[in-house]
Amino acid sequence: MTDFQWTKSQFYVPEGMIYLDGNSLGPLPLNAKDRVGASMTDQWGEMLITGWNKAGWMDMPRRVGDRIARILGAANGSIVMGDTLSIKVYQALSSALDLRPDRRVILSDTGNFPSDLYMAEGLIKSLDRDYELRVVAPEDVYDAIDDDVAVTLITEIDYRTGRRHDMQAITERAHACGAITVWDLAHSAGAVDVDLAGANVDFAIGCTYKYLNGGPGAPAFIYVRPDLADTVRPALSGWLGHAAPFDFELNYRAGDGIDRLRVGTPPILGLVALDAALDVWDRVDIADVRARSIELSEAFVEEVSAGCPALKLASPSDPHARGSQVSYHFEQGYAAMQAMIDRKIIGDFRAPDLMRFGFTPLYIDVDQVRAAARTLCDVINLNLWDDPKYKTRQKVT
Ligand SMILES: *Cc1c(COP(=O)(O)O)cnc(C)c1O
Repeated sequence: MTDFQWTKSQFYVPEGMIYLDGNSLGPLPLNAKDRVGASMTDQWGEMLITGWNKAGWMDMPRRVGDRIARILGAANGSIVMGDTLSIKVYQALSSALDLRPDRRVILSDTGNFPSDLYMAEGLIKSLDRDYELRVVAPEDVYDAIDDDVAVTLITEIDYRTGRRHDMQAITERAHACGAITVWDLAHSAGAVDVDLAGANVDFAIGCTYKYLNGGPGAPAFIYVRPDLADTVRPALSGWLGHAAPFDFELNYRAGDGIDRLRVGTPPILGLVALDAALDVWDRVDIADVRARSIELSEAFVEEVSAGCPALKLASPSDPHARGSQVSYHFEQGYAAMQAMIDRKIIGDFRAPDLMRFGFTPLYIDVDQVRAAARTLCDVINLNLWDDPKYKTRQKVT
């Protein structure tokens, strides 16, 4: 059984703050500060260029990938780190399309994060081969998969509502129709139980600064089903995905397996912070995290529906049909969230009217969740949001 009191002691959250935005940016793991500091002085400072060998920097994208594989039900050697998630969307999608050269449809849904759709749009334009990005309602994805679909590009958990797709069922259906699956796990990794090998997923991608607490702009990951990894063609054919980067050949030859999905020089300081953030997972069972996150979100929903029945839940009411977050519709949601933040309860706002709250058992407990819900009810019932200072929109909402 995971000791959540211990996990909580492993993070820094400012005094008095209730942080319900770990779905956007996880808090600082205490050990990350020391580890990044040490790697700057002892490795970058002392070793300089020899750090690539001596400190094992060159192997870090694979080593850290293996630690994430354990959380996602994937085999060792099937995940590699690098770049940001948007880049990984492009990379996975282009390799996936290549595996179905006779098909022209990319299937996604309106609940997908815009960057995923934008990257698909950009790729389609560059390829200039009459690809179609078919975007359907989330509840229609399953039925929209047919023999025309080359690739499904689906984010398992909706960033706005938390709605969760059935990865196993959709993957099975896609395979039955001969399509390749790309799953975006941005809001899944570290939040819910994922079984990439069990679900027979082809490609998966995700970021690590949300529920994995790797820090702002932490490197993303890409997974390729092991039996496909030696066949996929890397569209971003950078030198570190080459079979022999230090032979400096003039032509590209893809490296073995997942290594071919590497692109350029890995962001070592970011990987060191992420590696430190992953230490906590050595003593965490994702099934416990999922069970506890359901308890937390249910406590929040229960408190809000009792104290503030006017607030309309935008998330599925069945906790098993959503990820680790809950959203409410409120027309003045931006101002209301600013009023919450002013009271040291941190969530965020997503246009047009969603107040979003993330539940992260590693550092949030049920008393904090209930207190946050009571403050939300006060903000709404007493119109505490109705103050000009809460209504000026900032760049990041
Ligand atoms: C957070 C998120 C992103 C962000 O991509 P970056 O390149 O890391 O900025 C992309 N897709 C989804 C589904 C996300 O939730």
